[in-house]
Amino acid sequence: MLLCCLSSASGALVVQTETSLWDLLWQTRRREIEFVSVTVFALVVAVVAYLWRSNRQLRELTNLNRDAQISLELTAAVFESQVGLIVTDENGTIQRANLAMVSMLGYADGALNGQLTRMLRGSNMIAGTLRAVWKEVQAGGRWKGELLCRHRDGGDVPCMVTVTAVHNQAIGMTGFVGSFIDISGQQQAQDEIWQLAYFDPLTQLPNRRMFMEALRNTMRDALRNGKLAGVIFIDLDHFKNLNDAHGHTVGDQLLCRTAERIKQLLGAHDMTARLGGDEFVVMMPNLDTSEDLALAQAMVKAEQIHQTLRQPFELDTHNSIGLQALTLRYTCSGSIGVALFGLVDEPLTEVLKRADLAMYKSKQDGRNLIRCYDPAAQQALAQRMALSNDLNIALRDGQLKLLYQLQVDAQNQAVGAECLMRWHHPVRGLVSPVEFIPLAEESGAIVAMGDWVVQNACELLVRWSKNPGLCHLTLSVNVSPRQFAETDFVERVSQILKRTGVQPYLLRLEVTEGIVMQDTQEVIAKMRELCELGLSFSIDDFGTGYSSLSYIQSLPLAEIKIDKTFVNDIATADRSEAIVKAIVALGHSMGITIVAEGVETLAQKDRLLFLGCTLLQGYLISLPAPATAVEAWVSENQGEGVQQPLLV
Ligand code: C2E
Ligand code: CA
Ligand code: CA
Repeated sequence: MLLCCLSSASGALVVQTETSLWDLLWQTRRREIEFVSVTVFALVVAVVAYLWRSNRQLRELTNLNRDAQISLELTAAVFESQVGLIVTDENGTIQRANLAMVSMLGYADGALNGQLTRMLRGSNMIAGTLRAVWKEVQAGGRWKGELLCRHRDGGDVPCMVTVTAVHNQAIGMTGFVGSFIDISGQQQAQDEIWQLAYFDPLTQLPNRRMFMEALRNTMRDALRNGKLAGVIFIDLDHFKNLNDAHGHTVGDQLLCRTAERIKQLLGAHDMTARLGGDEFVVMMPNLDTSEDLALAQAMVKAEQIHQTLRQPFELDTHNSIGLQALTLRYTCSGSIGVALFGLVDEPLTEVLKRADLAMYKSKQDGRNLIRCYDPAAQQALAQRMALSNDLNIALRDGQLKLLYQLQVDAQNQAVGAECLMRWHHPVRGLVSPVEFIPLAEESGAIVAMGDWVVQNACELLVRWSKNPGLCHLTLSVNVSPRQFAETDFVERVSQILKRTGVQPYLLRLEVTEGIVMQDTQEVIAKMRELCELGLSFSIDDFGTGYSSLSYIQSLPLAEIKIDKTFVNDIATADRSEAIVKAIVALGHSMGITIVAEGVETLAQKDRLLFLGCTLLQGYLISLPAPATAVEAWVSENQGEGVQQPLLV
């Protein structure tokens, strides 16, 4: 541009001159001009490139700053979360603990900073636990598990802990981050589930499930180390009566107290459990290797339990209105069975069953006793149980029959008969009532069987009432204690009387002393009600029980049956004669008929009649026989004073 101005202002010559000057300049300084131009151009390019690059770095720096900011915010948010977090240096010194962490352990914000993680160790953390944790983190970069952390107040906080190592690429591990989740709520729920699954909620004793698990372990140990173990089975006697009379809260108290007393007697390795109801068990591991000694050890413990149960219990109760609290002094007893195990590998249920059977034997022998397992007794028991099962269908399948045993007066005239039950078992043949009546009592089958006897007796009496030669005969039926105790016993008998249309005065109920001694007032009331229906009562096996003669006077009795043990030696023993005399005197004074049963000889008969007995029953006169045989005997011998016995 400068060259152009020069040329337009000076004309052609000048132009020529100027052009020549430029040319001259160009020709002489061309190299320098080119060098300067290139240099200037390069400089311009460099400046532009520099500016562009700076601009990009600036942009990148701005972005980096923003990312760092976001990352910092995120870290802060995470750090202040609900999970307890701590950051430590490589020596375990806490650099920072978040709010969740400090408040979980009861500290103020910042109070943990600078402290060693050692101070967080809970009570059960054994030496070396933390060291093991650090070791694992160093090796694998991470550790996770449950730890107890120490609260500021000294208590423990169960935590789920994760420890992660923090690494720097240049200098390696720089510290740790630990996260802590309080799992005490979870633990409590777990504890509750455990408690429910393995413990009895009433007594807090282990339940059957836990006991069986312990039994399994003890069995395994016993088989391994040769030491025997024992099980003691305890069942409280008449617990139901306490429950019925005073209510379940009182019954529950007895169960809890029983649990406490048993627990106090246990050794360090013994265990007691409540199996349910009023049944407790004790397991004793590590007894002797000799069976005899081991049994003796178990029996000592059983005896201690037996004794402790017999100490009176004081139970809180209320009077009938429920207002006044009273203390019931209750004396209880237990039936106890003892069995050993660990000699052979066997199902655990067998072990428990043996102790149970021994306990059952103690019940059978009269309760409040200790019995140990005896294989022969078990076999007998198994037979009894099988028979008891069969008895349930005996009535339904028509296997029961009735026989009748005559009762005669001093002139040998039939006045009536006693109904005696017989069971024709399809396999075993004839089973004695001495064997099956107690079984029926136990199982309760006697109630239906007793109804059946009353029904049959009434039907027979109705049939006899149509026969002038038989219509005066009475029938006696045996009533068992369980049958009599039924609350609707009176109603059941009354229904049968109505249904059959029998003359009630011809039916006599034989009860034992055991029945009338139980609960005097209630028994007398029941007897009176039945007497009002027209029935009469006989007291059976008299003299074998404990009833006092004066007590008998308060009962509505028509008859006393002298037991055959006195009849047996009446002709030879003075003592029996004295007893018979006393009974006869009492009976006569009260207008009660005296029947002697089990009369087998003429000498007995004569002596009994001499002493004043009214009626006689026994093999001398008649064996128990079917109704048709009795009917035939009566019609043949009536009025003749014939001495031919009924031997069918
Ligand atoms: P129990 O009521 O004392 O019956 C008398 C038992 O003595 C009967 O035995 C009878 O057969 C037997 N006996 C009669 N005379 C003589 C004799 O001269 N010598 C001897 N040695 N024994 C004689 P059984 O029939 O075996 O009955 C036994 C027990 O079974 C009965 O004793 C009674 O307690 C019970 N029983 C029988 N039938 C029934 C029934 O239907 N219901 C109930 N609850 N118990 C019954
Ligand atoms: Ca009888
Ligand atoms: Ca009898």
